Amino acid sequence: MSNDNLIQKCVSLANQTSYKVGGDAQWYAAPRNWDELAASFEWYQSQDMPLTLLGAGSNLLISDRGLPGFVLSTRYFRGYEFNPETGILVADAGEAIAKLAWKAAKRGLKGLEWAVGIPGTVGGGVVMNAGAHTSCLADILVSATILSPDGTIAELKPEDLAYSYRTSNLQRGDRLVVRATMQLEPGYSKAEIMEMSNQNWTQRKTTQPYHLPSCGSVFRNPQPQPAANLIEQLGLKGYKIGDAQIAHRHANFILNCGTATAKDIFELIRYAQEKVEYHWSVSLEPEVKLLGEF
Ligand SMILES: Cc1cc2nc3c(=O)[nH]c(=O)nc-3n(C[C@H](O)[C@H](O)[C@H](O)COP(=O)(O)OP(=O)(O)OC[C@H]3O[C@@H](n4cnc5c(N)ncnc54)[C@H](O)[C@@H]3O)c2cc1C
Repeated sequence: MSNDNLIQKCVSLANQTSYKVGGDAQWYAAPRNWDELAASFEWYQSQDMPLTLLGAGSNLLISDRGLPGFVLSTRYFRGYEFNPETGILVADAGEAIAKLAWKAAKRGLKGLEWAVGIPGTVGGGVVMNAGAHTSCLADILVSATILSPDGTIAELKPEDLAYSYRTSNLQRGDRLVVRATMQLEPGYSKAEIMEMSNQNWTQRKTTQPYHLPSCGSVFRNPQPQPAANLIEQLGLKGYKIGDAQIAHRHANFILNCGTATAKDIFELIRYAQEKVEYHWSVSLEPEVKLLGEF
């Protein structure tokens, strides 16, 4: 593919995020293989512009004004391999983590049951330390292949990535996750792992709103009370700004009810933060990444 097709100008990002909002990327590429990734990266290195990395966009609020510079999405950079004997899973950044969780379950491999229903990619999961049901990606990560802005590639271990709750040092910068190696546990039956995965999926569907666009939990959970409790106790469930609404089913979810803008969602985030700060003296920190100008 020539750079003319690979690197596109003025691409709408609204369809690249689970919120279905956001303006245009000034420049955009979504490489599907190593050659396209190398070509995209070389093009970026020849320019003098900011870089934004995207996975499936399921933890992002992108400004209605869009993003200046180059937006590189790894969502189509895909490929994976399970080793059923050792339990090793090697997956490229664009693989859907939930799809891998179901595939692992069908092979009787334990370790990814928590990921069913998480609509992100492996790359986003490594960066966010995605997790649920008391487990997280850092628990199973053996190493991540990282491409740095200067073009060097390194194999980093979890201890290099400063993991903690929904956090890694990859969130601070412009290092690209290309691939992850994960250790799953062999020796289980398909039925056992499917059972756990189905339970997790059922619990999710009954406690979280999956019927409208969202980013999952908007705020990181403070201690000792989860963010949802603090918001719910203020009677904010159902509260709307524009077409953005605090979900009735789960107060830490803000939904796009159809025509919400990023500004609506942003203002609702700020509104919930102000109310919680005022009543509970707790400062809620967004888990969702805000990209661009608000
Ligand atoms: C309905 C719903 C439920 C959810 N439930 C959960 C849950 O239970 N647990 C949980 O942890 N999360 C949950 N999320 C949030 C989200 O799915 C996770 O944070 C996920 O890991 C984000 O992955 P992504 O590929 O969408 O990343 P994005 O949202 O695209 O990006 C997230 C961050 O990672 C960076 N990034 C993405 N890909 C790369 C890459 N290849 N290299 C370098 N940086 C990259 C981005 O720059 C950004 O900073 C939920 C979201 C939704 C919509």
